[in-house]
Amino acid sequence: MSAGEKDGALVCQTCPQRCRLAPGALGACRARRNDGGVIVAKSYGRVTSLALDPVEKKPLARWRPGTYVLSVGSYGCNLACPFCQNFEISQAGEKDVPWREVTPDELVALALAARRRDPRVIGIAHTYNEPLVGWEYVRDCSELAHAAGLASALVSNGCFEPAVLDTLEGLIDAANIDLKGFSDAFYATCGGAPRSLACARDTIERLAADPRCHLEVTTLVVPGMNDGEAEMEELAGWLAGLDGGRGRETLTHHVTRFFPRWRLTDRGPTPVADVYRLADVSRRYLDHVFVGNC
Ligand code: SF4
Repeated sequence: MSAGEKDGALVCQTCPQRCRLAPGALGACRARRNDGGVIVAKSYGRVTSLALDPVEKKPLARWRPGTYVLSVGSYGCNLACPFCQNFEISQAGEKDVPWREVTPDELVALALAARRRDPRVIGIAHTYNEPLVGWEYVRDCSELAHAAGLASALVSNGCFEPAVLDTLEGLIDAANIDLKGFSDAFYATCGGAPRSLACARDTIERLAADPRCHLEVTTLVVPGMNDGEAEMEELAGWLAGLDGGRGRETLTHHVTRFFPRWRLTDRGPTPVADVYRLADVSRRYLDHVFVGNC
């Protein structure tokens, strides 16, 4: 997924940032690099975070409740949301954060060992940083997980080109995709490219129509940034129209509370009443709406 230029630079086509990478250069996500004329995921197998989590914590509220997933994360992200709750790893590169190599075989072995100890462990979740900046690891782990009878889940901002989703076709059993707001301006404040929202929408639309993948969507409500009722109306109404018009019944929407973090510490947490109010707006369109962090 790259296009070459005369000076040896390559344009990464993994996401709408379309980074132009001179030989040896890292992309904006800090995970992909032009290595000798090929763009490679330098973050491949470099694990910064590994934990057993209840699926509800992803959050996945309506997919195999009461079970656990081995959650794995690396470093890097193709956005830079000023309120990122995981900025220590999402905004880090290979020299900024400790990591250890865990091959896909090793990761699946760890998940199987966890399942032997506790049968409620059902699989692996790719989460914490933005997993799809290193989509090759997600693909390879998911293939092995399925072969071993394990499930594969994904937590992502969804701002990726369709070719990335093509590589994961049939490999993701459950996904929680962020829909951070419903305007290009909001995605721009999150460090997005002009097509980031469009790509997130395409990802959500595609997964919503895929019967092999259970889909949930999360919107973090940030005071003064995306807490208007009109924006939530538009967003939830769009979700309701997905899945052939069955989105109201099939989609799950998490409306969650912001806490000051990283570069956005000039305001307090979202008032709980605002989270509930906006969840009620979403409920005008969707049957399955959950509040989070309240
Ligand atoms: S995946 Fe990374 S390197 Fe590729 S375009 Fe996106 S931010 Fe740039």
